[in-house]
Amino acid sequence: MAMSRVALHGRHLFTSPHLFRRHMSTEAMAALDRIRHSGLLKTQGLVGPKWIDSYDGKKIEVQNPATGDVIASVPCMGAKETADAISSAYTTYASWSKLTAAERSKSLRNWYNLMIEHKDELAQLITLEQGKPLTEALGEVNYGASFIEFFAEEAKRIYGDIIPSPLSDRRLLVLKQPVGVVGAITPWNFPLAMITRKVGPALACGCTVVVKPSEYTPLTALAAAELALQAGIPPGALNIVMGNASEIGDTLLKSTQVRKITFTGSTAVGKKLMEGSASTVKRVSLELGGNAPCIVFDDADIDVAVKGSLAAKFRNSGQTCVCANRILVQEGIYEEFANAFVKAVQSMQVGNGLLEGISQGPLINEAAVQKVEKFVNDATSKGANVILGGKRHSLGMTFYEPTVVSNVNRDMLLFKDEVFGPVAPLVPFKTEEDAISMANDTNAGLAAYIFTKSIPRSWRVSEALEYGLVGVNEGIISTEVAPFGGVKQSGLGREGSKYGMDEYLEVKYVCMGNLKDT
Ligand code: ADP
Repeated sequence: MAMSRVALHGRHLFTSPHLFRRHMSTEAMAALDRIRHSGLLKTQGLVGPKWIDSYDGKKIEVQNPATGDVIASVPCMGAKETADAISSAYTTYASWSKLTAAERSKSLRNWYNLMIEHKDELAQLITLEQGKPLTEALGEVNYGASFIEFFAEEAKRIYGDIIPSPLSDRRLLVLKQPVGVVGAITPWNFPLAMITRKVGPALACGCTVVVKPSEYTPLTALAAAELALQAGIPPGALNIVMGNASEIGDTLLKSTQVRKITFTGSTAVGKKLMEGSASTVKRVSLELGGNAPCIVFDDADIDVAVKGSLAAKFRNSGQTCVCANRILVQEGIYEEFANAFVKAVQSMQVGNGLLEGISQGPLINEAAVQKVEKFVNDATSKGANVILGGKRHSLGMTFYEPTVVSNVNRDMLLFKDEVFGPVAPLVPFKTEEDAISMANDTNAGLAAYIFTKSIPRSWRVSEALEYGLVGVNEGIISTEVAPFGGVKQSGLGREGSKYGMDEYLEVKYVCMGNLKDT
């Protein structure tokens, strides 16, 4: 039985697949053929060495959000398949964790090379199931693969310590050891990078992993897993299950063999996972929602500020947790910035991400569009003005016009919550203190951006912002070599960089006693 992916999210009853099937566009057919020919269209879960269906035969359809076409069906798995995936990861942990760092590094490096070799197919798969424009998808493949390359190198740098002993006949050592089996739950907005950012350091440290990708975008995860097997990462080190999210999540949480949960997604689900980890006292890393302020000061370089805030806002149609959610603009530059910004937004091309020249694709689903509509209506009902866009795009489906809303204030949803769509709210402010107070007036604390030519102000404001990442005169700041993560309710832990390794390592103290000569 096939179940539409929307059914999983409670908006439709189980639906027969033929109701969805339409003629695919030539671009989509060509892309799918290419992916299939390269052997990367995997449509089963991976448990140990086996590609498997769900035990009861249930399936989920994966759709192209730009067209509604069904791309493929994947198994709708639950507790039983997850338990088997955990067993497989647990068994493999014994051997994988005992390999030398150099051996693990070599397999990871092979995986990186294969991802780059297949970057066009992976990018097409991302665009097909997620909707982002092909150039952005290619950017994600490079970014996603870079975590595997970086952690292949970092695998060799897991150093311990020797601590000077207070007693002459003792030596005090610190060893770093892998935490064990990791459960990794990932979202749909970066179908590849959110997996590699977790699996890269986990495998590098000697952990084994059960990944649950989003049911919206499982195909990229499965293709990446196929390449991992080809790269020589042993079966069982990386397992992939998908389907009933809460059942899979609960099985991971309850297992005493799973020693860590790492998650990227909504704050609400993150809190549940943190709570659920308490009964077995698991390590937890969480990358949750943001509410990024983007502060444009009077002394900003206007071109730099427009370019930076445009990139920070509209990447992935505004569907990233580091997207600028509130553009705070100082009064002296407000008009000039608003005009230049609107002009820049007007130049964006909306459409199917497989087509050339497209800079904004569809939103992931109907619920996402409805959320955007609700936020925009709330703002206009409270006195804000839509100065560009403000409605569904004439292309239909889940396309929404790139939108700019002016005179947004603290009372509006656009200020308080993450819109996760292509809407840029402009919020006027008077002083630096006002800007900092507005920026920090949220429970979120992931990314923040500031635009100013003043070096003292850059320092002052960067230090005052209660955020895990700050971009100064730059709208795209994520890189595998720098720590990514939030403060407050945006999460726990860091991903990427040398700090990303610590999340998968335990510190063990060994005291060697009675070392007297005689
Ligand atoms: P979004 O609203 O952006 O899809 P979610 O937090 O709902 O964010 O989803 C992120 C990931 O968490 C997805 O893989 C999703 O299937 C998974 N997920 C959702 N609910 C649960 C749950 N109760 N337990 C475990 N994982 C879940």
